[in-house]
Amino acid sequence: MKPAPFSYFAPESLNAALELAAEHGYDAKLLAGGQSLVPAMNFRLVQPTVLIDLNQVDELAYVRETEQRGLRIGAMTRQRSVECDPLVAEVCPLLAEVMPHIAHPQIRNRGTIGGSLVHSDPAAELPVVAVALDATLTVRSNSGQRRVPALDFFQSLFTVDVAAGEMLVEVEFPPWSARTGYAFQEVARRHGDYALVGAAALVTLGEDGLCERARLVFLNVGDVPMEARHAAGMLRGQRLTEELIEEALNVAAEEEIDPVADIHATVAYQRHLARVLGRRCLQEAEARAQQIVEGR
Ligand SMILES: Cc1cc2nc3c(=O)[nH]c(=O)nc-3n(C[C@H](O)[C@H](O)[C@H](O)COP(=O)(O)OP(=O)(O)OC[C@H]3O[C@@H](n4cnc5c(N)ncnc54)[C@H](O)[C@@H]3O)c2cc1C
Repeated sequence: MKPAPFSYFAPESLNAALELAAEHGYDAKLLAGGQSLVPAMNFRLVQPTVLIDLNQVDELAYVRETEQRGLRIGAMTRQRSVECDPLVAEVCPLLAEVMPHIAHPQIRNRGTIGGSLVHSDPAAELPVVAVALDATLTVRSNSGQRRVPALDFFQSLFTVDVAAGEMLVEVEFPPWSARTGYAFQEVARRHGDYALVGAAALVTLGEDGLCERARLVFLNVGDVPMEARHAAGMLRGQRLTEELIEEALNVAAEEEIDPVADIHATVAYQRHLARVLGRRCLQEAEARAQQIVEGR
């Protein structure tokens, strides 16, 4: 099908885009990479009467290191640019590791980091990474800007904290402690498909080898990224034995996620995948942290 008729604007600056967004409010949609929006328009699932194309707003495409050795990434940065940027691999290796799991290179060539975060598909990888890494998202309108923690940004199915007239302009990933290991795992029916279930983990070890801090977040087992906060809390101050990880994963898989059965996976299978992927992630993240502690 073809989309319903719409007026098209291609502003060349952020200010001009924000003016248009303010003027057209709920009637307008912002066009980033178009990889989710255009199919939805073609199926007439969304029918904006105004399309504001951000592809000429060059000031929204960048990857920069912060003074604290975190990362700031502009909303219009292509997913493929994030994937290939050596600074991302160095400063935010979890993000670099996750990028190849998103769709296919052709889609990542067009798809943007901001588009994926705002689209907020429960099976998307970037929202999970944003929550796992405690990212902060900057949302701007022509009357000001506000910074939203990732945990609050993702509100419900395909719904984020961005109002009509507002735009996501930047995502900031803060640095994690030096002795932190990370891991990401997912199961998809074919490479490039949206995942059935996925997990991201971060483990920070103390110099004594005990877990100082842990983070475990799942994708596609709830409307938004599902943080297993209690499970991660069980690991704090402990040595990560197989038994403890199993115990924590039982809590995560039975109490902290909210899977819904679909044609590909029953709830029981999704809980099973969460257990398996969560365990693998925690073990891999711990092993990476251990290497850092031992200076390998
Ligand atoms: C075949 C296929 C497979 C895919 N597989 C995966 C996958 O495995 N994992 C995955 O995560 N994604 C997957 N995707 C989606 C892909 O990552 C998209 O790129 C992403 O979801 C949307 O990014 P975009 O830049 O294309 O945004 P668009 O499609 O242009 O926009 C998406 C939504 O975000 C809004 N928007 C965009 N930018 C902004 C902004 N700066 N501020 C406010 N609102 C904004 C738009 O108005 C729209 O509502 C797949 C897509 C396809 C077509």
